[in-house]
Amino acid sequence: MSFSSLGLSKYLLQAVEESGYTTPTPIQVKAIPAILSGKDIMAAAQTGTGKTAAFTLPLLQGLVGGPQVQANHIRALILTPTRELAEQVARSVATYGKHLSLKSLVVYGGVKINPQMMKLRGGIDVLVATPGRLLDLFNKNAVKFSQVEFLVLDEADRMLDLGFRADIRKILALLPGKRQNLLFSATFSSEIRSLSRTVVNNPIQIEVSPPNSAAKLVKQWIYEVDKNRKTALLSHLIRNKNWEQVLVFVRTKIGADSLVRKLKGDGISAAAIHGDKSQSVRTRTLADFKAGITHVLVATDIAARGIDINQLPQVINFDLPKVPGDYIHRIGRTGRAGQQGEGISLVSADEVKLLSGIENLIRQLLVREVTSGFIPKHSVPLTRLTKMRPKKPKKKKNPRKQFADQKTDADPKSAGRRRGKQRRDSSTGPRKKRLSTKSNRPGKGKNTRKIKS
Ligand code: AMP
Repeated sequence: MSFSSLGLSKYLLQAVEESGYTTPTPIQVKAIPAILSGKDIMAAAQTGTGKTAAFTLPLLQGLVGGPQVQANHIRALILTPTRELAEQVARSVATYGKHLSLKSLVVYGGVKINPQMMKLRGGIDVLVATPGRLLDLFNKNAVKFSQVEFLVLDEADRMLDLGFRADIRKILALLPGKRQNLLFSATFSSEIRSLSRTVVNNPIQIEVSPPNSAAKLVKQWIYEVDKNRKTALLSHLIRNKNWEQVLVFVRTKIGADSLVRKLKGDGISAAAIHGDKSQSVRTRTLADFKAGITHVLVATDIAARGIDINQLPQVINFDLPKVPGDYIHRIGRTGRAGQQGEGISLVSADEVKLLSGIENLIRQLLVREVTSGFIPKHSVPLTRLTKMRPKKPKKKKNPRKQFADQKTDADPKSAGRRRGKQRRDSSTGPRKKRLSTKSNRPGKGKNTRKIKS
């Protein structure tokens, strides 16, 4: 499959070629023609799959030749959860649209609002925005929505995680009813499905990798290590393995700063990126890391959203994330666009529950290694995958029984008696075994450890 068979104009094909892409990724093959057909889409695609080009290219094509944008109006709105992702998407819009005469702008909080208001005055074809700042601009009459033709929700799952549900609802209420909607999310959780009902209309559903599966090109394993030895092990690994561009995830901002101090003390060039840093510091830190000036970038989950570095070879989980889904987002930073990457976690005994949560989400037990000199005093208990119970098809209700149920529901006394009976039944009746366990290691019942020097 080639880009030229997807229905894109020569100006966009030229920009794609100049970006060095030769073959469209699976999400691009499916989403580009679907979006060009004018339908709403709902796509489950993890970061690193080429999803930004998958919506940006057809969106730009849809805007070309349309009406002139009026003062303070916008024609396409791309909402992203974080500033970094907004910047990254805006860069893609500029790159793919460089042979078109469309105006684009990115707006987010944490920086002065006045320059953004000035730029909006002349009207903008494609606005990339974080929800909070967009509403601030609307409240100042700086942006008007009646010309909006396209709405993109990028990383919609993350927007919900970050508490943007109410802001999204407000924004949706301000948009004109007739528009094309594109919803992208790493997974189709039940929350995303419920959000989608208010966003997309009869959408084409696209899934390029099974939901919740970690990127296949990422080799993943863990090092078992005592908690107080994690920093020493990380320094040891960085030196011994000659890692030159490592993204390290930690859970807290304080943890990020403290790790950077310790790594620097070990003579390793490191910098932290997290929400307490100003936008200019974050941008400079990222640029230094991309240029190879800083070898180790220590990030919190939120700040790392939108970090897009081609061929990032290693991602390290210094702490395991509290939310198992964040593990997928984290390791999605490596193994991008066809490149092999490594996702390595330093795991201490107290993190076994988090480890098990992750393994059950990705349906894979992670290979364990220990490094000589760092053999833990407290080894991480072995984990197992819980067996997934196949869903039983729902039994059709017996119409006579249904009628009887309706009668009892209508009678509060008997309904109360019934509820009481249910409670008694569940506390005294035979206990159903809810989950059974099974290892996924063929031929072996348990996970194994390798000792490496
Ligand atoms: P995304 O999933 O949008 O964050 O994209 C991940 C990375 O893949 C970015 O660095 C893109 O520049 C790159 N990319 C997107 N489409 C292609 C393609 N068709 N071929 C090679 N690289 C691509």
